[in-house]
Order: sequence, then structure tokens, then C-alpha cells
Amino acid sequence: MDSQYLPMSEAKISVLDWGFLHSDATYDTVHVWGGRFFRLDLHLDRFFGGLEKLRMTIPFNRDGVAEILHNCVALSGHRSSYVEMICTRGASPTFSRDPRDAVNRFMAFAIPYGSVANPEQMQRGLHVAISRTVRIPAASVDPSIKNYHWLDLVRGLYDAYDRSAETALILDMAGNVAEGPGFNVFVVSNGALMTPASGVLPGITRRTVFDLCAEIDIPAVAGEVTVDALRSADEVFITSTAGGIMPVTVLDGRPIADGKVGPVTRQLTELYWRKHEDPNWS
Ligand code: PLP
Repeated sequence: MDSQYLPMSEAKISVLDWGFLHSDATYDTVHVWGGRFFRLDLHLDRFFGGLEKLRMTIPFNRDGVAEILHNCVALSGHRSSYVEMICTRGASPTFSRDPRDAVNRFMAFAIPYGSVANPEQMQRGLHVAISRTVRIPAASVDPSIKNYHWLDLVRGLYDAYDRSAETALILDMAGNVAEGPGFNVFVVSNGALMTPASGVLPGITRRTVFDLCAEIDIPAVAGEVTVDALRSADEVFITSTAGGIMPVTVLDGRPIADGKVGPVTRQLTELYWRKHEDPNWS
């Protein structure tokens, strides 16, 4: 925290921190696989982009943050970890309501890598429900800033659990597919990929899928993804740092296509994990 390395149990923030009181914070999560960071530069770009948009400052530049993250991983002792960097607005020493008075705080931690999908779910594909009650309102929070505004997403999750699904997809106000709690979504139809273009976090794993598709000549575009496109897709998968590329085989209780993990999802997943061995991708 700030410039100190502490055991997790000793890391504390003030209850007056605007990050806690107003969700006035940004963060990023990157993963380390077999001792190596995966696409750290892209995560740092997004984190520093968020800081700039929120007018937050930290006393470290990119190299400084990278060094802290490496130290967190080394101190944690985990070879494969999930590493989070956070900046909160902080608390105002005078209790004022002016965010400029708050002292921004930087913290980071490394915990063991844990996937959204367990090995069994990776084999058979996730069961997902489209939330019936929750929609993501456009521009309430700039989705390009990675943020902790998860009220919609968590409500969507409960909506999904109520219908015995394992996770949720949320629609935007126009009724098109947006994203889920902590992941982006792709549909595969007739050998081409499509993912929602707007109102979503520009995920680094989403970006990696575009890069992989360019390498193996699979067409991939960002555009409007309708619920019908999702229901009639040949394959669906979700993407996130915590899990990579994860298959979805059941939507609202019905199988997607034949209900099995599809060949494009398999090919991309294999390639994604192979890139973790490639130093050019770290
Ligand atoms: N969408 C949301 C709302 C997220 O919180 C996340 C990750 O936490 C993602 C998408 C996936 O982004 P990434 O691939 O960078 O982990």
C-alpha cells in the first residue's frame, strides 16, 4: 500500500476513503502464469488511462508500478497469480466534499490465480442466463475505465442463480448483449466472431482474441450483438483475465447449437494458453 509491502491482513484503508464511500476508484487486474506476466503493458495502459480520465495521480510511473507488481508476486511466492493494482480517490484530511482535497492512494496485491470457470465447466461449457431484470444504462459510468460499479452485474448474477445458471449476461438499454460480471462475450457464427462494440469494458482478453484471430485468419469484428444472434450462434464464449477464453454451452436453460464446446472456441483457447509460453507475449 502506497510504498509499503504488508501481509494482506495488515492492509487497511480508511472508511472515509472515497473509493469505499463513492466507488471513486479505478483498478486493473493482470495475471502471472508460470512466473511470467501476461500482456502487462496493455494492463498498464488501461490503468494509467483510467487514472488520467479520473484525474487521479500516483507517485509512481509505469516502470514503478511494474516493479511493485513484480515485487508483490515475488513476495507472495505464487507462480501463477492474479495481480490487482488499485487507485482510490482517498480521504480528505479536512472531511471536505471536494475530491481535489483527497489524497489518492495506490495499492496492489497478488493472490493465487483462480479462474471464473472450474475445470469441469471448461470441459462442458458454462450455463449462462440473460438477466431479465437488469440492463446496463449507457454512459452512467465510462465503461472504458475499469471500475468497481458492479451493482447491475451482481444483481444480474442473482437473477441467473435464481434460474439455476452459473453466471449472467446483461443487456444494454437497447436490449442488445453487453457483458457479464467480469467478462466480455463473443459469438461464433458461420466461422466469424462478433463481440459487443460499445458499453463494455475493452477487455484485454477480448483484445487478445482479436490478435489471435488475426494470426489464424478468423474474421472477428466488434458490433451490435442481439439476443437472437446469441441464441442462434454456433458457439459462444466469454473472456476475462481470470479464466481466459471460457466456453458457454447453455443459454437460458437451452443448449447453444449441439450444446458442446465448439471447434473455434477450442482452437482459440489452446492458442491463448500456448501464448503464455511465448516471451513475445509477456
Ligand atoms: N467486463 C468487465 C465488467 C470486467 O470487470 C472485466 C474484467 O474484470 C472484463 C469485462 C474482462 O476484461 P479483461 O479481459 O481485461 O480481464
